[in-house]
Amino acid sequence: MKRIAILGSTGSIGQQAVKIISRCPDDFTVIALACSSSIEILAEQVRTLKPQVVCLGDAAMAANFTEIAGDVAKNLEIIHSEEGLGLVASHPDVDCVLNGLVGFPGLYPSLMALSVGKRLCLANKESLVMAGEYLMALAKESSGEIIPVDSEHSAIFQCLNAVGEKASAGVRRIILTASGGPFLHRPLDSFDSITIAETLNHPTWKMGPKITVDSATLLNKGFEIIEAKFLFNIPAERIETVIHPQSIVHSLVEFEDGSVLAQMSYPTMEIPIQYALTYPERKPTDVTPLDLTAISTLNFETPDLERFPALSLARRALKMGGTAPAALNLANDEAVRLFLEGRLPFSGIAETVKKVLDEVDVLADYDYDDIISLKDRVSRLISDEGPV
Ligand code: MG
Repeated sequence: MKRIAILGSTGSIGQQAVKIISRCPDDFTVIALACSSSIEILAEQVRTLKPQVVCLGDAAMAANFTEIAGDVAKNLEIIHSEEGLGLVASHPDVDCVLNGLVGFPGLYPSLMALSVGKRLCLANKESLVMAGEYLMALAKESSGEIIPVDSEHSAIFQCLNAVGEKASAGVRRIILTASGGPFLHRPLDSFDSITIAETLNHPTWKMGPKITVDSATLLNKGFEIIEAKFLFNIPAERIETVIHPQSIVHSLVEFEDGSVLAQMSYPTMEIPIQYALTYPERKPTDVTPLDLTAISTLNFETPDLERFPALSLARRALKMGGTAPAALNLANDEAVRLFLEGRLPFSGIAETVKKVLDEVDVLADYDYDDIISLKDRVSRLISDEGPV
């Protein structure tokens, strides 16, 4: 029986995890749930999963939750804020932390989970983007482990597991696939008129709004290059990206002998979430069996860096090293928020991120406090000059 904490339990990843866990009551028990503000969904999850502890975004949300939860809140420990997230992630009764938070808030609980040697099932790729070296070192030190939930990284992880322990030594290239998002073939001169609704209408994946915007700018793929570099300890020059609009091949690994392994399925997060939770075992899912003859054609093309400058910005941040990838992520968190509030045009997202990378000072060595300071610096840089 694995004892689980789900961070971001009311979000897209969290709700799918709840579904998976609910159908395997003999395999999992939920100890803790955390979300920022969706108190009604959380109350329902508490009713069915009966955790010991829940964590809300702040004190006011915790009070609201206590009020609406009624009897359900009895015998339930209700905590809140960043400190609460840290307590949940390092809870002594938890074996496995699924981190499905969005953006910067995911970093602290990732650090806390790894510092006490938990299994961290990581959907919050921003943790690795902001502090990849730091997290990997922490995992090694504490005998914790990071199991990727990101579909591309789950694919690579599965390909490497399929060939066994020494596989990563023989890896020549990692090829990350990208759907290309909703604007893959949209004329570049019409990018100025891109709306929020068009951006949130992803052609193949159903996800939360922030990652859907990141997929449309392709910065998501840039983040995934950074994520793969740290997770699999492979230089960025050996990580390539290829556009694959059908989202059937979730990523590929090329070995020294020229052999290439891929992991495939219809686009679904059910497999990566479940595999991270059950690894090294596999369990049945409700995923539709792949019908290659029905799909018939799989297409691949090179990403257009003029259309999607964010992809190059991620490589640039990796080259700058130190806290530059953290600045990249923090700038994007802010820019995506402004875009979703209607205060920044679509092309302004990459422009804002570029401006921050141009201006921010990079620290080679850093800790969590440095990233907090950087967050303030990036917010000031963006608000001082106003959205571009
Ligand atoms: Mg992905």
